[in-house]
Amino acid sequence: MGMISKIIGLIIAATGTLVFILGMNDPALQFVWFFIGLLLVSMGLSLITGGRKQIEQEPPPPTLTEIHCDNPECDFKEIRQFEAGDYILKPMKAKCPRCTSTMTIEGVYVVREEKEKDKIVI
Ligand SMILES: [Zn+2]
Repeated sequence: MGMISKIIGLIIAATGTLVFILGMNDPALQFVWFFIGLLLVSMGLSLITGGRKQIEQEPPPPTLTEIHCDNPECDFKEIRQFEAGDYILKPMKAKCPRCTSTMTIEGVYVVREEKEKDKIVI
């Protein structure tokens, strides 16, 4: 639905721009074409931005958990979404997929809006 309204919005905005350009060549009705063009472009843009708002309602999860393998010879690490109960140095129930050793949470990160990672010390 969002994709369709974006395409329709794009077509309406493009038609509005075309009306603008064609209206320039008509001195008598220039104001009328200008008004119609403006109306179409604003309608088209509101359809396009309306679709964009729906995507913004689903922001990516702001916190990540970094898991390291306990085996010093295996440097496996995994970064996944933070889950309730995660804390630094928590032993994981899951085994390392590479060497089947135990794994420990080494870090919990908050992803800021600037997309910088900030380490929390708990
Ligand atoms: Zn491992």
